[in-house]
Amino acid sequence: MVEEKKRYILEFPDIPAERQSVQELPVEERVDNFNEVSLGFTEDAAVKEAKRCLSCRRCLGCGLCLAECDEDAIVFEQADEKLDICVDSMIITTGIERVCPPPPERFGYGRYANVVTDIEFERILSDNGPYGGLLIRPFDGEIPKKIGFVCWADNNEGISESGIESLSYAIHEAMLAKRKVDGLEISLFLPDNNDYIKELKRNDGKVLGVSAKKGGITAIKEVQESKNLIVQWDENGDVREDEFEMVVLATMPELPTYIIELAKKLNINLEDMKKGIISLEAFDINKGGRRNHA
Ligand code: SF4
Repeated sequence: MVEEKKRYILEFPDIPAERQSVQELPVEERVDNFNEVSLGFTEDAAVKEAKRCLSCRRCLGCGLCLAECDEDAIVFEQADEKLDICVDSMIITTGIERVCPPPPERFGYGRYANVVTDIEFERILSDNGPYGGLLIRPFDGEIPKKIGFVCWADNNEGISESGIESLSYAIHEAMLAKRKVDGLEISLFLPDNNDYIKELKRNDGKVLGVSAKKGGITAIKEVQESKNLIVQWDENGDVREDEFEMVVLATMPELPTYIIELAKKLNINLEDMKKGIISLEAFDINKGGRRNHA
């Protein structure tokens, strides 16, 4: 059952917005000339006035919006309806959120300009991103020659299916970055964990020129003058460090809260949902029915 709300506008929020006044030529400047008296809106006033459009607040039923809307989006006689719609299958597009399991601030995110998340890095690489596809550092617009990717190398964190996915994503971005900058050096920090190593091996052909550093990150510090980043990590008990011009923090995919709520309402197994495949048998309403994927 779905609820369809009427499109006739009644529930306007109360948006007080004063009418803007048109500027006029001062009286003393009107003498002995035929200059236009009405000067129109300033840009600021024009924008404010335009924003008043349809802020009728309490609908009077004047029908002006109906007359003006060529798309037939307003139907005066329409009422709210509850509709029963019969479907053969349902597709639930879950969407995904990206989260950083340890707070990213711990690695300087938000404090150090050249520490970005993999999602932000994806925007930097994108042709329609903030730098038009040019791989440059946020701090000074310099092209980095050395980048470190951090795949949540805490001892016990990030060792999960999501962690492996974040590693694959990091590898993918690392390879895109290498295609953009000749001689770019990339280090991949990841936990010394069999699942991660297996994933790394699976991507063997793709990770040419990317050096993997196994062990937990202990600190990331900024160099005051250059804004480069010193990454310290623990390799078999030895503390090592290296300097990078940028650091990219890998994030993990996670189901959004509203999808978890929806899963509860529909009695859907969240594990199925995470895989993006939901059997209709999971729905109470369809128990015993034909096995389908939705
Ligand atoms: S333009 Fe008239 S009919 Fe349309 S919402 Fe405003 S007051 Fe109501």
